[in-house]
Amino acid sequence: MSQNLLLNTHYLMSETDQKRLPESLAEVTFVGRSNVGKSSLICALTDNNKLARVSKLPGRTRAINIFEVRKNYWLVDLPGYGYAVAPEKEREYWPTMIGGYITLRPKLAMVYILIDADLGVGPQDISLLHWLHGLKVPCLIVGTKVDRIGRDRQREKRKIMANSLGLEAEDIFWVSAKKGYGIKELRADVVESLSTGRIPPLVVQRGGPEG
Ligand code: GDP
Repeated sequence: MSQNLLLNTHYLMSETDQKRLPESLAEVTFVGRSNVGKSSLICALTDNNKLARVSKLPGRTRAINIFEVRKNYWLVDLPGYGYAVAPEKEREYWPTMIGGYITLRPKLAMVYILIDADLGVGPQDISLLHWLHGLKVPCLIVGTKVDRIGRDRQREKRKIMANSLGLEAEDIFWVSAKKGYGIKELRADVVESLSTGRIPPLVVQRGGPEG
């Protein structure tokens, strides 16, 4: 699949009950704290500003929003933590929303965990990462809004984030949706995930969007 494939992405559907989602051929999901820059990132990856607004419409901020890259190939936008439910119910949110979705999706190829590069790692990010590792679900970390950090502090911030997750700095995607930094690299990874991962290899169709 070529990177350009993401540029044809359109909104498919929203669903509040993960059990009712139809099957895909392959999907990747984006998850993170509310306000982490998830919508902006999906916009930047697909080069489509309209997609971001979709997830912000009333009634959709708490839903699983599905964007279709190509028929049955999906980008899945999960509700931000701390937003899907009231804080006192946050602990129940894992098994129901994120947990329910992740454990129910056999074609889930990658979970991209978004973390605000300036705010850094939170306890929910760590618990999600551990939980995914335990289930052997592939996941990657994406530091967002890196343009908010001065050039002189970038390397240090990335290293601190990596250390607190038991990773190397290079293991973390480091992006700015606003300035376009790191978008190309992440886009290539998303395409790679949709093509391989734990799912059967994509049969390339002649005359498809990538030519
Ligand atoms: P979501 O709630 O996770 O979908 O986050 P949004 O994409 O709506 O972004 C939340 C806020 O962060 C908005 O005010 C965005 O303009 C801002 N934001 C998102 N991405 C970036 C970025 O790359 N750089 C900067 N400086 N701000 C960003």
